[in-house]
Amino acid sequence: MSSINRNNSLSDNLIEWYHRSKRDLPWRKTDDPYKIWISEIMLQQTRVDTVIPYYHRFLDAFPTVYDLAEADQQQVLKLWEGLGYYSRGRNLHYAAKEIAQNFDGIIPSDYKKIISLKGIGPYSAAAILSIAYQKPYAVVDGNVIRVITRYCGIEDDIRSIRVKTLVQQHVDSLIPDNHPGDFNQAIMELGATVCKPQNPDCGSCPFSTECIAFNTAKTDVIPYKSKAKKIPHHQIAVGLIVDSENNLLIALRPEESMLGGLWEFPGGKKEKHETLQETVFRELKEELGVETEVFLKFKELKHAYSHFKITLHAYWCRVISGKPQPKLSQQIKWVSLDHIDHFPFPKANKTLVDDLLDLKDKNLQQFLIK
Ligand code: SF4
Repeated sequence: MSSINRNNSLSDNLIEWYHRSKRDLPWRKTDDPYKIWISEIMLQQTRVDTVIPYYHRFLDAFPTVYDLAEADQQQVLKLWEGLGYYSRGRNLHYAAKEIAQNFDGIIPSDYKKIISLKGIGPYSAAAILSIAYQKPYAVVDGNVIRVITRYCGIEDDIRSIRVKTLVQQHVDSLIPDNHPGDFNQAIMELGATVCKPQNPDCGSCPFSTECIAFNTAKTDVIPYKSKAKKIPHHQIAVGLIVDSENNLLIALRPEESMLGGLWEFPGGKKEKHETLQETVFRELKEELGVETEVFLKFKELKHAYSHFKITLHAYWCRVISGKPQPKLSQQIKWVSLDHIDHFPFPKANKTLVDDLLDLKDKNLQQFLIK
């Protein structure tokens, strides 16, 4: 393994390459710390192409930190709908209020202060401080890990803390005092566009002369990542409960839960020895305190979260006994298909909503048959 001491020419080459090759992205046209903060949070675990329209819509709605601080959480989540990892949106909103109240509306330029904000960890703090305030904090993300482990010939498992620490030490030793933001963006850009997981384009890489993986023909084995544990796959059954006026019942997930602040069709995880219809019946009784008649399936779809996968089964239902109460959710609402799209839903439920919108002109009572 090679070690990198502060190597100015390497950083210079990288930054020079970046200025020649960087993609034209909207957040690279601003030095407004607020806009840089929004982009960095959106870009976490999300592809650039996906983020671009969200970034524009979000900033159109909330051009300043005060606009975001004063917004309604439901509006923030609606604009985040489909982007995933919704705690990022909730935390942005929360942090904006804090910045408006405690920091005169200015994104802090001090590491301790910025990292005290909700949703800002070491990666985001380093990215914002370096890009917006030119402070030499080096970022480490998946792209940086790939570039550095290849460059240095680090063959150990990149899941280990040891490798992550080594990579951090290497980039800390490389980052220049001038243009640290360009350096961070350059190394991430190199990982995203040249030093790709498969078939890296070493011929156009500014590191190729010294890169150990390239020069020892090991780019296909570095970085090494041990196999992830198999993630569970749950069967989820939900009820599309229709009332006599064609409204559907939706429930608001509690703030502190996963997907908190988003709406969903009530239901839950299938237990062993239970049919999906029995799951719907049991879940609606536990969640809303009602007995329901469960009819035909409307839709079945799959969705993957970071730690588990689901198959979502949606059944038409009618309440036959009791009045629905929000026992496990924060709030419930009866909504018509004309208004349902005003509420923020997580991805799988949003797909159901989109399919339900095709039935806008139909009488939903026709689905309440065995
Ligand atoms: S030379 Fe190839 S493997 Fe090495 S850093 Fe560049 S693109 Fe990655």
